[in-house]
Amino acid sequence: MTGLLTMPHLNQADRLVDRLDELVQQLAKNIPSGYLPDYVPALAQANSQAFGAALRAIDGRTWSRSRPRQPLVLMSVVKPLLLLYALRILGIDPVRSLLDCQPSALPYNDLSQLLEDGGRPRNAMLNSGAIALAGLIPGRNARDRVRLFQRWCYETWGLLLPVNETLCASVQSLPNQHNQAIAQTLVQFGTLEDATLALDTYNRICCTTLTLPDLASLGCWLAEPLDDWAEAIAEVLDMMAVGGLYQQSPDWMERVGWPAKSSVSGLVWAVQPGVGAIACYSPPLDDQGNSLLGLAFVRRAIDWF
Ligand code: GLN
Repeated sequence: MTGLLTMPHLNQADRLVDRLDELVQQLAKNIPSGYLPDYVPALAQANSQAFGAALRAIDGRTWSRSRPRQPLVLMSVVKPLLLLYALRILGIDPVRSLLDCQPSALPYNDLSQLLEDGGRPRNAMLNSGAIALAGLIPGRNARDRVRLFQRWCYETWGLLLPVNETLCASVQSLPNQHNQAIAQTLVQFGTLEDATLALDTYNRICCTTLTLPDLASLGCWLAEPLDDWAEAIAEVLDMMAVGGLYQQSPDWMERVGWPAKSSVSGLVWAVQPGVGAIACYSPPLDDQGNSLLGLAFVRRAIDWF
């Protein structure tokens, strides 16, 4: 990309806001148009033009242009939080014995990889890994499991993460054959006990929500862990580095170097230890399910810290 605007530093937050629209327009001109996911009808109706972003440095400098203002559905951006929750309440060993921390060159909902690997998910950022974790966490049923997760988030960060029930109904309105096959395969290989419970929990936890500024603050908290959280957070960031952007992760880490997680709802969440975090929203996706403008924006915004 050539001829992009030189943007001011995060210290000059007001000037950044002034020039954001110009930058977003420039970035948008340089990327393909993208698509909206149709396997969740409510996501297929998202406004393709919507754009929002929030940045926070560990010294507290913040910047946001949070439109839309309402909390956004996390979808796969919940996977690092689910992993952290499992690591903290169950311990590192049960999680490590369930899944690997390896990259995958195949899509996030691919079954052949899981079969080839004998039912052991490559990483927790793939659907297989997150469905396995959803099967492991405590709670009698899916609602109960997600409620306990939300309570833990509230006690840990003071954040509520409400479920978007409309989106949840939309996710469940169409059968997701990929995820069903993944859950059944996990059961066949003994990685999971109850496919329905795990899938219901996974679908519901993916419909929890956060605002962009809260997501940026949460990322900052991970970027500067308290001592007794350091091991679990390092594991989460390793997992994001290895698979957070699916097939693109190795290339992204080489070029950009910030562990990141994307979602089919159009979020990109990037965290750099010792520096800060970026949360960005733009619904159109590339063919791997990553927000096109979101990735382009994060690539530029890391220079503002
Ligand atoms: N719940 C979505 C799914 O299983 C999450 C995927 C994503 O955001 N990449 O397809």
